[in-house]
Amino acid sequence: MNLIMFGPPGAGKGTQAVRIEKKYGLKQLSTGDMLRAEVASGSELGQQLKAVMDAGELVSDAMIIDIIKSQLQTPECQKGCILDGFPRTVAQAEALDEMLSAQGKTIEHVLVLEVDETILLDRIKARAVQTGGERADDNEETLKNRLSVYREQTAPILPYYEEKGLLRSIDGMQSIDDVTDQIEGILSASQAA
Ligand code: ADP
Repeated sequence: MNLIMFGPPGAGKGTQAVRIEKKYGLKQLSTGDMLRAEVASGSELGQQLKAVMDAGELVSDAMIIDIIKSQLQTPECQKGCILDGFPRTVAQAEALDEMLSAQGKTIEHVLVLEVDETILLDRIKARAVQTGGERADDNEETLKNRLSVYREQTAPILPYYEEKGLLRSIDGMQSIDDVTDQIEGILSASQAA
């Protein structure tokens, strides 16, 4: 079972992905975490990535697609994976379809975490305090750009999955446990089917 966690920055994709990965034997693939690991390594590539990420812009499709391609082939993804932060552009969504179908796999659900923008801003501010400002992109100004990048480049993917009948809308403003329950309800129903 391959899932996409979809939603704006701060919607809770990573939080929920971690909660469901163990229960269902799936592997979380967070492109944001992978990119931050590259930045932390201090490599030259990492320095270039940091500049893009700190501005709230997207890194190149080609690079992200390559990273995901190699990850999808690992044994950890055999039972399936939870894509968190990918795809973020229509080109990435199309590339994902090609990669999966080449491996005889498909996406079962696109879980869309819906959260109002004012709440996102509060969450990102709270995360900046909790993490001691660890993520340079967790500030009001960069969040505004991340949200506009989301609206302009990422949200246009939704009709693509809607046509395929894969969208599952989740109220991301419920408590963390209630969001997990809602997701598990969707996954259990599809496993039983
Ligand atoms: P968020 O909390 O905003 O959802 P992530 O941790 O998923 O953020 O990603 C942080 C940053 O990493 C993004 O703002 C972007 O610069 C880069 N990034 C992550 N995933 C992708 C992707 N699929 N395509 C391009 N850039 C990406």
